[in-house]
Amino acid sequence: MKANVRLWRDVQRQRRAFSTTPRRLDTYAFIGLGQMGFQMARNLQSKLSPSDTVRLFDINKDAMEKLAQELLASKAGGAAVQLAETAADAAKDADTTITCLPEPHHVKAAYATILSSGLSPSPTSSDKKPLFIDCSTIDPSSSRQVGFSVESAGGVFVDAPMSGGVVGASAGTLTFMLGAPASLLPVLEPTLLKMGRRVLHCGAPGAGLSAKLANNYLLAINNIATAEAMNLGVKWGLDPKVLSGVINVSTGKCWPSEVNNPVPGVVDTAPAGRDYKGGFGIGLMKKDLKLAIIAAREAGARLELADRAREVYESAEGEEGCRGRDFSVVYRYLGGEE
Ligand code: NAD
Repeated sequence: MKANVRLWRDVQRQRRAFSTTPRRLDTYAFIGLGQMGFQMARNLQSKLSPSDTVRLFDINKDAMEKLAQELLASKAGGAAVQLAETAADAAKDADTTITCLPEPHHVKAAYATILSSGLSPSPTSSDKKPLFIDCSTIDPSSSRQVGFSVESAGGVFVDAPMSGGVVGASAGTLTFMLGAPASLLPVLEPTLLKMGRRVLHCGAPGAGLSAKLANNYLLAINNIATAEAMNLGVKWGLDPKVLSGVINVSTGKCWPSEVNNPVPGVVDTAPAGRDYKGGFGIGLMKKDLKLAIIAAREAGARLELADRAREVYESAEGEEGCRGRDFSVVYRYLGGEE
């Protein structure tokens, strides 16, 4: 494995040496190569110029080496790749650092490491400030705290949580909800569009996360309500396809009823048809709901349904037949007919 990684570096060095298009060399760091980050880093690397460099880091060495292997085997070309030893090594001298980590404490820990040795000025950005793009779904106030530390150290920090799931990350079709000064859009969009197909500018730093959490709060409630309504209709003797046909041309229509219907057989491509495997994990839904509750409390916004919804996801996740599955498995938790 080590030999392959070295070989990959050599191949990249050679490619760079023979590059005929003189241009500025940009260095990117990508930190957090999990389900989403792995695919995003792969797309970013393949769409960058051979004169650029992508440094990869994850505390899970296997994820780094697996990605290096995949890039080595790929014929897609793209930027040179380096495997970093720490998050600080990855971000050192990088023009742009992208982070994609699970929860607020992971983001805080990664940025504490990065900032512990100070930030070096970006070699290529016009104002010399290194740019940090956090794509993790965390609460806006933790994000602003991290942003404040980065800015105090001389960097620029923006939030760009995404939707589209692992399928969108793999296909490069993610939607990013961006919280950043408008003046940075010309710099941020070209980078984000290498990993997605839409950038929605939501406002100042933190606003991307607020938009993401408001959306996912609605999704959490719609999903339970759809499972309840479908279960109710089936118990009343309605054919689930007939019922979803009515809902989807009526006022109850929503993404869980139309695309991710929880009753097996209603929508062929929905996770319900494959024992609720794949899709958006119930654990992630529970996490986003928790973050929305925290952020709502901080803003003094009253949420009547949040605590009950959280209990539903928590107890569903505690059941063997539901754990680790798509969040539409709430239908099974309710005792729905499959
Ligand atoms: P994941 O758990 O699969 O991956 C996270 C990765 O971060 C892991 O490889 C882990 O080893 C690494 N990591 C943890 N702490 C680290 C540190 N200090 N330094 C470096 N690496 C570290 O998570 P994911 O599914 O890729 O999700 C990432 C973020 O994207 C989450 O905030 C999630 O809510 C959000 N998100 C996920 C999806 C999805 O469908 N999976 C969709 C939209 C948004």
